[in-house]
Amino acid sequence: MDTEILRPYPAALDKAAEILRGGGLVAIPTETVYGLAANAHDAAACAGIFRAKGRPQDNPLIIHISDTEMLYASVKRVPELALRLAKAFWSGPLTMIFEKSDAIPDTVSGRLDTVAVRMPRCAPALELIGRCGFPLAAPSANLSGSPSPTSAQHVFSDLNGRIPLIIDGGECVTGVESTVICFENGGRSVRILRPGAVTAEMLSEYADVTVDENVFQKPAEDVKVISPGVKYRHYSPRAEIIIVECEDERGLADFLNGIKEKGVYAVLYGDERGVELPRIDYGVTAEERAHNLFAALRKTDELGASRAYVRCPEKTGIGAAVYNRLLRAAAFKVIKL
Ligand code: AMP
Ligand code: MG
Repeated sequence: MDTEILRPYPAALDKAAEILRGGGLVAIPTETVYGLAANAHDAAACAGIFRAKGRPQDNPLIIHISDTEMLYASVKRVPELALRLAKAFWSGPLTMIFEKSDAIPDTVSGRLDTVAVRMPRCAPALELIGRCGFPLAAPSANLSGSPSPTSAQHVFSDLNGRIPLIIDGGECVTGVESTVICFENGGRSVRILRPGAVTAEMLSEYADVTVDENVFQKPAEDVKVISPGVKYRHYSPRAEIIIVECEDERGLADFLNGIKEKGVYAVLYGDERGVELPRIDYGVTAEERAHNLFAALRKTDELGASRAYVRCPEKTGIGAAVYNRLLRAAAFKVIKL
């Protein structure tokens, strides 16, 4: 199969809608990362997502909607708090978990009774969902395990030949996947299962917020996790990734300058001085680091790196999302200087 890349002009969105109506797959831009979309009501189409990505069957998909009617059709009940959060953060990078309705096949939910829903803040995605008239199930459009795609080129390099069409909306604005939350205490408080650009600090203006213990630690082998996705090796390039936490930049430079092997890179903020290793800079601000993280991880492979030391991001605000992804890319290897 040839994989076509088209800019999101009306004719391209028509073509995408036609493929999706016929049970096919299309990679679409969103504000977080690129998604690999299928009709969320069509179990066979959604099974195609798992095949194309090599995704484990028990890792459920997020469904993307363009209006609240689609929400009501997909879930059993909408807690009052969910409505307030939708008003505050939709369209945007917040995924909420609800009890699923019968319209959502088990393939989408990974056989859970729940379904994850969000409304993307991306005009071509909203336009396409509206044209289809059904929600789109769309996990990240990468091969399972590899860094998420934040450009059409990233999608192409992972899925060329496996899908017919990529809609190229340019670089994703945010760069890390959505915040995933579930409701607790009868819908009065929320638990963050995956941090994203809608931060714990932002959510705490609306509800009591708990950050799930698996956000910053490796889930124990024998424990049943709420969000199956957190179990898997994730976001990893071929290079070995090691996070370096440092108090001061001088100490960081001294540590890195002690490494003399070839093929080793430093992934830094960009304003550090005196580092001799070849470097990939991923951003001076927390937002820039979120935007560039996955491209930087992919870059280590393009450069043929055997190992990369990544300067630890901050752990609050959107930095929590970056740290969460990096921990998994690094298989939880952290050096504290
Ligand atoms: P991806 O779409 O590749 O960004 O991954 C979707 C993430 O949402 C994974 O971490 C899933 O485990 C999580 N997720 C999706 N649906 C549910 C659900 N019903 N309950 C809990 N977590 C979910
Ligand atoms: Mg993913």
